Amino acid sequence: MDHHRTCQQAKQAESMEAAAQLQAQRESVAAAKAAVREAPSTHARQSAQAKLAELEAVAGRSQRTLQELERQTDEAEAKLTLRTDAEAKWLEALKKAEGAEKLCPIFPVGDALVEPFWPQGLGSNRGFHSALDAAWAIHVMHAEGSVEPALVDRAFCYDVMLHGAFVSGSVLPGGNWTADCLTRYAPSLVKGTLMTYEDPHSKRSHKGRAAVPSRYLSLVGASLAVIGKAPARM
Ligand SMILES: Cc1cc2nc3c(=O)[nH]c(=O)nc-3n(C[C@H](O)[C@H](O)[C@H](O)COP(=O)(O)OP(=O)(O)OC[C@H]3O[C@@H](n4cnc5c(N)ncnc54)[C@H](O)[C@@H]3O)c2cc1C
Repeated sequence: MDHHRTCQQAKQAESMEAAAQLQAQRESVAAAKAAVREAPSTHARQSAQAKLAELEAVAGRSQRTLQELERQTDEAEAKLTLRTDAEAKWLEALKKAEGAEKLCPIFPVGDALVEPFWPQGLGSNRGFHSALDAAWAIHVMHAEGSVEPALVDRAFCYDVMLHGAFVSGSVLPGGNWTADCLTRYAPSLVKGTLMTYEDPHSKRSHKGRAAVPSRYLSLVGASLAVIGKAPARM
């Protein structure tokens, strides 16, 4: 939402600046026209006409820029309105759900979870891995008796899936796959995600130990040992 508001405000400010610039240029054009009319000699008129043509060309360009900026401002405004309406509906739905005791988790899979970047050719691949991850999350929910560990597991598997470039060796041989992501992804892929969770320099992926499902925690020590660091207290 903030992003859409910032975009809309930036476009509006740009439009206003362009409009003010165009206004100043139109005044210069008007002054140049007066100079043509009042030119005392043929030479002075020719010179004033050349100046006028130059100023009119500049003002013409500014006019087109302003039109484009106004179009972009309208577009940004429409997006902001859409987001504002969607957020209002979401907040209303949340309010209605207040006090609900039985929660129903929704685990999107495939393209509904992540829109593939087509040159990678990973859409189907990520489609069935994410479906298996969702099945595993439901298993975790039943095994642990609450939704929270399932959400942590689901989020972790999602990161493993996205961190992997799926080059040769990223996934284990398919014959032994189950819904458990440890049977599908190479240990190095899972460890790589664990390492970025631990790494304070990893801007988006530094999520800390709380974001790691408990059963993976034993892997953290092994991962840190690889780079010669002692594991933190768990
Ligand atoms: C042109 C093209 C080329 C591609 N090439 C590759 C490739 O080379 N390699 C690769 O890995 N991926 C490729 N992909 C991507 C891949 O096809 C998708 O990522 C993958 O099919 C996603 O699977 P999905 O099950 O999530 O969604 P989908 O395969 O889109 O399945 C969704 C299903 O839900 C149905 N549906 C939608 N709405 C409703 C509703 N309201 N009620 C009931 N059913 C509904 C749809 O009809 C559809 O059958 C390509 C995609 C395109 C379009």
